Formats: sequence, structure tokens, C-alpha cells
Amino acid sequence: MTSVWSPSPSPRPGEPLDGDTTADVVVVGAGLSGLWTAYYLLEADAALDVLVVDAGVAGTGAALDGVGACTPDLRAPVDRLVAAYGDDGARDLRAALRDAVVEVGGVLGLEEVECGFRFGGEVRVARNAAQVERLTTLVDEGRAWGDEWRLLDPAEVAEHVASPGVLAGAWTADSAVLDPARLLAGLVGVLRGRGVRFAEQTAPVRVSPRAVVTDRGIVRAPRIVVAAETDAAAGSPSLAAVPTLGLATDALDAAAWDRIGLAPGVLVADLAHLAVCARRTDDDRLVLTATGTRPDTLRAALVAMFPPAAGTRELTWSGTNGVTRDGLPHVTFDEASGIGSVPSFGGAEIAAANLAGRTIADLVTGDRSDLTRLAWVGPGAPAWGRSAPAQVALALRAAAWADSAESLDRTPRTARQVLERFPVV
Ligand SMILES: Cc1cc2nc3c(=O)[nH]c(=O)nc-3n(C[C@H](O)[C@H](O)[C@H](O)COP(=O)(O)OP(=O)(O)OC[C@H]3O[C@@H](n4cnc5c(N)ncnc54)[C@H](O)[C@@H]3O)c2cc1C
Repeated sequence: MTSVWSPSPSPRPGEPLDGDTTADVVVVGAGLSGLWTAYYLLEADAALDVLVVDAGVAGTGAALDGVGACTPDLRAPVDRLVAAYGDDGARDLRAALRDAVVEVGGVLGLEEVECGFRFGGEVRVARNAAQVERLTTLVDEGRAWGDEWRLLDPAEVAEHVASPGVLAGAWTADSAVLDPARLLAGLVGVLRGRGVRFAEQTAPVRVSPRAVVTDRGIVRAPRIVVAAETDAAAGSPSLAAVPTLGLATDALDAAAWDRIGLAPGVLVADLAHLAVCARRTDDDRLVLTATGTRPDTLRAALVAMFPPAAGTRELTWSGTNGVTRDGLPHVTFDEASGIGSVPSFGGAEIAAANLAGRTIADLVTGDRSDLTRLAWVGPGAPAWGRSAPAQVALALRAAAWADSAESLDRTPRTARQVLERFPVV
């Protein structure tokens, strides 16, 4: 599988596991979370024998579907973090996530992974009264959590992006962009160069204390990290599958970009419940993503937010993100069994996966650090019941309903209550 919009070459599948073996640490899943985990395990101890097992091809997980937003945003609003983790826990996690964006850029520079990383910042745009209210909360309450959002009036928004119908905006310098396909390929290359072993096209059948049983043999290891978000689609008890759409236009010409005014490296996102996030690629396309929406809705958002892109050829694709029942990410590590897991981030992955990888590496190597004290380290999310798909569908319908009611300046109380009960977006 290769990225549908990025010009990166398709990764070649590597060798499967060749019978039983041993390792110091087995990482299950060679997506972003697994690759960052392996990277920081070797940073902690270069002599570690790390084996990464993937059911498919290393570096081809859901991140290939991504549009490359590298932000401290977990998609879980701060009030949800505060309710779960307390004031200090939420503040420390926010700070660590902001640092993670910087860390991603630093590692890419250090390891000479060229994937178009740019620290361009992010502009949020509010297009109706309800979105203005959420924007004001974001800016005002964000300060308490160390986030630096600056309120913008429509004229100031237009300095970053010319998008019609914007009532207000906010700006932060804390977000970056990159090409996820090149990031994944680059990380795989770095890890291979450091001696990490990959067993691809190798499906784990069972993860037990000190052993991963696969269809190609058994790997015995004292430490195991499970990092396989796409398991959500396969019915993982802790994750529900939430569909996410992507859209990429053909390259727009200079006149269109003059009218849109968006610089490469800058992210634009609105404050809808099914929020749209967009950016300009290095090859001058517009790429957009939104969770739980339909292709025609995303196309309508493209035209509404960026009229000069109307009429250009575009392609859409869909992927899946795993979402926990409480809508929060959890890093787990059980000392007794030696088994850990890195969380699902509900669609905002690049920086959070980096932080989770660093955190689990510290837990696995026994380094009790500031990271291992972060509030998301704990017992894990409550299991979803069998009705998870129905609950996700209900929440997504409520979100779409709330967005459309808010666009007419109505207050969709019931839909908002459903979203509070099932926090999947
Ligand atoms: C359309 C779309 C747009 C997105 N845009 C962005 C964005 O702009 N910014 C952002 O940060 N995030 C974005 N995301 C989210 C991001 O892509 C995912 O959250 C991220 O890729 C998840 O990383 P992961 O390592 O947890 O899982 P994955 O990337 O899915 O990797 C999991 C790996 O584990 C393997 N695997 C799965 N199950 C098993 C198993 N049982 N055993 C062994 N191996 C297994 C898979 O083959 C895969 O290689 C987007 C997602 C979509 C769908």
C-alpha cells in the first residue's frame, strides 16, 4: 500500500519471520507508534535487540492516509483531559505534546529524514456563532494550559488565509506539517540502519507474557509493546473504528494560490464538530481531512473554505482511526507481564505517537522519568461493548446534525449531549 496523494514510492515488503526467535523487546505494529517506540528504545540503549512485527508492510499504516498535520492537538478537548487527569495532569500533558512537535522536527533534522517538515503554525477559523464561542474558549482557557492562541479578527485571518465567511480566527505557532509517507519510510530506514529487525507479513496470533505467537513462529522476549491502531477495524476491545476521510486536489496554479493566500507549512482548521483540517503541499495541492464525514460534505467544505479550488480535479479516500471509549489516549505498561501498549489518538497522531514512543521506551527500559509520570500512563481505556459501531455511528450523526444546526445559528442541545456521552470526535 502506498499513499494516495504523496509522491513517495511504495515501500517494498520485507521478509516475514523465519521460525521461532528471541529479542529483548518485540514491538507489534510498524506504524508511527511502533516506529517511534523502536527509535526511542534504541536511543535509550543502542545495544537492545528490537524486533518489530507487522501483519502487513512496515511503514504503511494509517499514517499513509494522513494529510500531515503535526500538532499538539489530541482531538480530546482540554476539559476532557482535565476531567480525567486533573489540572496538573492536563497541563503537563499539553506541555509534553507541544514539545513533541519540536522533538519530531529535531529528530528529522538529526537523522536527515527529508519529509517536508515545516513549522508553519496553525490558523483556526470560526464560521458561525457556535464556532466563535468554541474559538473564544480555546483561546481563553488555552492560556491556563500553556497553549498560546492569539485571537484574530477576520482581517488578521486573511493575512494567513483568504477564506470567505470567517467571523473570527485564532493563531498558534505550535503546529507543523510534513509528508507522512516520507516520514514513515525515513523512520524505517533509520531503524534498519541501526540494526532493528523487522518481521513483515507476519500476523501475531496471541500476545502473552514474554512471548508473541505469530503465524510464522514464536518470538520470546521479556518486553512486548503493542502499537497497532488499525486493530480497531479488526475488533480490538479497547478501540472503536472511526472513519476518516482525506481529499487532495490537483496542483493549483499560482493565481489560485494568490487568491487563497495560504503558505506551505501552515495548517488551517475550522471548529466544526467534524472539523476540517487543510494545508498546502510542497507540490501545490490542497489536502483536507475530516473525521466521520462523507466525500460530498468534504468537497462542499473545500469549495466553501477555498473557492478558487472549485472545479479542480480532486480525489478522496477513506481510512480508519481507532478511538477509545472515553475518548482519551492511554499509555499502559504492566511490569509483571512485561506487556505495554501505546494509545490510539483518534486521528491526531504524529506528535502524540512520538511522545507515546518516548514514554513507553522509558517504561520498558525502567527509566522513571517526567514522561513516565504523565497522567496518560495508567491502566488503559475501558473496553468498548459490542455496540461500539452503533455508538460511533450515533455520535457521528449527532456531530453532523450539530454542525448543520450551528451553521443556521441554532443550538443543537440533544446532539451535544450525545457527543458528550460518546466522545469519538
Ligand atoms: C484520512 C486520514 C487523515 C489523517 N490525517 C492525519 C494528520 O494530518 N495528522 C495526524 O497526526 N494524523 C492523521 N491521521 C491519523 C493517523 O494516520 C493515525 O492516527 C496513525 O497512523 C495511527 O498510527 P498507529 O501507529 O497507531 O497505527 P497505524 O499507522 O495504523 O499502524 C499500525 C501498524 O500495525 C500493523 N498492524 C495492525 N494490526 C496488527 C496486528 N494485529 N498485528 C501486527 N501488526 C498489525 C499495521 O499493518 C500497521 O503497519 C489521519 C488518518 C486518516 C485515516
